[in-house]
Amino acid sequence: MRKSVVAIVGRPNVGKSTIFNRLVGERISIVEDIPGVTRDRIYSQAEWLNNSFNLIDTGGIEIGDEPLLVQMRQQAEVAIDEADVIIFIVNAKEGITAADEEVAKLLFKSNKPIVLAVNKVDNPEMRDEIYEYYSLGFGEPFPISGAHGLGLGDLLDEVVKHFPQVVQQEMDEETIYFSLIGRPNVGKSSLVNALLNEDRVIVSDIEGTTRDAIDTHLTRDGQEYVIIDTAGMRKRGKVYETTEKYSVLRALKAIERSDVVLVLIDAETGIREQDKKIAGYAHDAGRGIVIVVNKWDTVETDEKAMKEYEDKIRAHFQFLDYAPVVFLSAKTKKRLHTLLPMVQVASENHTKRISTNVLNDVIMDAIAMNPTPTVKGKRLKVLYATQVAVKPPSFVVFVNEPELMHFSYQRFLENKIRDAFGFVGTPIKIFARKRS
Ligand code: GDP
Ligand code: GDP
Repeated sequence: MRKSVVAIVGRPNVGKSTIFNRLVGERISIVEDIPGVTRDRIYSQAEWLNNSFNLIDTGGIEIGDEPLLVQMRQQAEVAIDEADVIIFIVNAKEGITAADEEVAKLLFKSNKPIVLAVNKVDNPEMRDEIYEYYSLGFGEPFPISGAHGLGLGDLLDEVVKHFPQVVQQEMDEETIYFSLIGRPNVGKSSLVNALLNEDRVIVSDIEGTTRDAIDTHLTRDGQEYVIIDTAGMRKRGKVYETTEKYSVLRALKAIERSDVVLVLIDAETGIREQDKKIAGYAHDAGRGIVIVVNKWDTVETDEKAMKEYEDKIRAHFQFLDYAPVVFLSAKTKKRLHTLLPMVQVASENHTKRISTNVLNDVIMDAIAMNPTPTVKGKRLKVLYATQVAVKPPSFVVFVNEPELMHFSYQRFLENKIRDAFGFVGTPIKIFARKRS
């Protein structure tokens, strides 16, 4: 099910990042008196009452050294394209400026629900001053103080009223939901188009209420797949689409609803720091992962080159040692047919269950081979293990003292589980719990 998305828009220094942090509940981005200061995170989950939604701080998308008005326009575009509800923030201490009016005009035309917040209303006496903001045309302005956490409840009450009626998406257990993520220009949209035109692929329908939420259903060899957010990968020729922060935002949005994530790498330009960052999000989210080296037509294509490239990937993406690597060209369609079968393997492993008996045979054999460590004269005792979840497969190991389970021993057990059961294409999780 897709979560509602709320975007915060407003001039520099009105308090967007302060409010983002308040609503997200941790101080994760840097707030300073310098306008346009770099923010770490611009997309995060937030909760209000029984609503869990995603929040975007559009101020964190740095679009280069454009003049203020151009930047503002682009931020408004991001919000209009990505969000279900937009919080438009103005500054009570400065009144309505020309830039505010410009943004208001754009937002007005969008037909998206807009909630107007007047920030920096730090004390009740200032509440009388908010009436001038009715003139922006968004109805009742909500006085808030991001710095002091005032008025945010009333603001959020209004925001959630505008959430779209939840269309319960049938998440069919048999269907594999996957997405493609990667830097701008790695070939995401080319690869989607290539997949949809593959001989053995039957594209059944394209659904979605807005252009933005379109998923594509397809079948190949009797297996059904849904490509998440196909529309979002298609270029609309907007300036912000080439920014790094925006590509991260899109990736996070797509990962959320996926079983398996294809992490695309551009063979022509090679591995970049940004690739690792994006792959890291998919790993942290516990999704199945397939690494796809696209544009393989642009480099040497013998077996040796492939082996060398894979070694390079293994060195750069050590945390993805479980992810298979597929080399292909979206352009020439060479080796394209190898992709969906690999997605299927990753998905099967992502949902695989191991019976407790079989699991314990493997764990006990592992312990016999490499006895549990002793710390300060106390030995770790493993009583038994059991799988507690899928997507990703998660195991609880019951032990005498969880603190005695060191990272290295946990890693050893993980490797033994992988040796025995494969789990190619999926992270697995192991937790130590106390049982005496
Ligand atoms: P952004 O550029 O819109 O993201 O604005 P910031 O969140 O970085 O805030 C800009 C400045 O306004 C910082 O110095 C904040 O401490 C200050 N600020 C944010 N919210 C409030 C508020 O409610 N009251 C007051 N007085 N200052 C605030
Ligand atoms: P996106 O931004 O990740 O969606 O990337 P696009 O699909 O728009 O591709 C970016 C550019 O790379 C376009 O010019 C494509 O024609 C080109 N491209 C995509 N796949 C391949 C490929 O397999 N080989 C080559 N040589 N070029 C490709």
